[in-house]
Amino acid sequence: MFKKVLIANRGEIALRIQRACRELGIKSVVVYSEADRDAKYVRLADEAVCIGPAPSAQSYLSMPAIIATAEVTDAEAIHPGYGFLSENADFAERVERSGFTFIGPTPESIRMMGDKVSAKQAMIRAGVPCVPGSEGALPEDPKEIIKIARTVGYPVIIKAAGGGGGRGMRVVHTEAALVHAVQTTRAEAGAAFGNPEVYMEKFLENPRHVEIQILADTFKNAVWLGERDCSMQRRHQKIIEEAPAPGIPRRAIEKVGDRCAAACKKMGYRGAGTFEFLYENGEFYFIEMNTRVQVEHPVTEMVTGIDIVQQQIKIAAGEKLPFTQRQIEMRGHAIECRINAEDPVKFVPSPGRITMWHAPGGPGVRVDSHAYTNYFVPPNYDSMIGKIIVHGDTREQALARMRIALSETVVEGIQTNIPLHRELMADAKFIEGGTSIHYLEGWMAAHKR
Ligand code: ADP
Repeated sequence: MFKKVLIANRGEIALRIQRACRELGIKSVVVYSEADRDAKYVRLADEAVCIGPAPSAQSYLSMPAIIATAEVTDAEAIHPGYGFLSENADFAERVERSGFTFIGPTPESIRMMGDKVSAKQAMIRAGVPCVPGSEGALPEDPKEIIKIARTVGYPVIIKAAGGGGGRGMRVVHTEAALVHAVQTTRAEAGAAFGNPEVYMEKFLENPRHVEIQILADTFKNAVWLGERDCSMQRRHQKIIEEAPAPGIPRRAIEKVGDRCAAACKKMGYRGAGTFEFLYENGEFYFIEMNTRVQVEHPVTEMVTGIDIVQQQIKIAAGEKLPFTQRQIEMRGHAIECRINAEDPVKFVPSPGRITMWHAPGGPGVRVDSHAYTNYFVPPNYDSMIGKIIVHGDTREQALARMRIALSETVVEGIQTNIPLHRELMADAKFIEGGTSIHYLEGWMAAHKR
């Protein structure tokens, strides 16, 4: 096992990785920007190194600064967390070439999945069901594009091969709008992701977002750890996640889960990963794979009892998975609410000093957060300041626990989306379960938000 791991991230996930290292008896080094000097994970760190000013490009995205820090602190491995450099194949390559272990998949896997066109092709080869659409990147010829759309059937969605974070997508309802939409998406994708390639998918009108968590070691063992329902989204950003997905037959989940694990073996995938699907009318359709730990991994940890971050580290250290698929059991129900520093009505970020922070507690309640009283939320990064996760024997119990947890939570000095979460936990449709990815935006329009 490693003696020392460098954490190339910030916020709650830096703290989460630090805790996993501590439990494994590994020393950890955190890197931080000038804006994060007073962050909790910096204060609690075994070692902390300031690597640059607030802008991410000069700190958390600076490959030379991170690798140099690993060198001077004698770290053996680097955990990239999520976001920032976590899905950057060049970074993974540079880490390994510099003699460190990258805690994640091979650069080849990251590269293949980072390009959504090649990811989809790999899935089709591996027998994972995909959304019907173009067989690869769209051609230049407008006539060809129109032909493809006629075969797929309107509405269609044009998506950037290099897209991510809910950006680089455009829905098209009519043939008249098609060619212009393809050109605009191409131009935007070229500017935003450095890759103008786009592809086409059938736009599913009322799907749910259901994803499968997998773990694979370097001995060709791969397992799936159940599913997560992440349908509660605004602008393609998840805000509530739960496991298991309400109302979907176990047999259907098992079938797709087994396919995902088989695909991992076939691809020689290693580490943690997530297969994201849209689920509509009883069918699963693959949309993308994330080659890193997800924000919402705790709901899976709560129902399986498996520490995903520790498993990532163990796999990177060359250990075998300590369980087989048959030994993995899902118990009870877990729900996560992402707490964002933002105006709950206008949804604009609300950075600043937290004058009072009180986290909830009690049976089945977990809070993953780097916030504390007097913590200054910097304006430079993502607005998520923590996650409240609850577990119960049933979904009803989990919902009740989340309502209590949210009522106990106090955050003063900045605005958060906690009022929104409180309303959603009391919403009849959400309580019923199985709402689609469009539900929240419809709900907000109905509530005049
Ligand atoms: P990103 O990498 O940007 O997260 P995804 O491919 O995972 O992109 O899609 C993000 C979200 O966009 C999905 O969760 C879903 O809400 C919507 N979406 C993507 N593809 C489709 C589709 N074919 N039909 C309907 N909605 C889609």
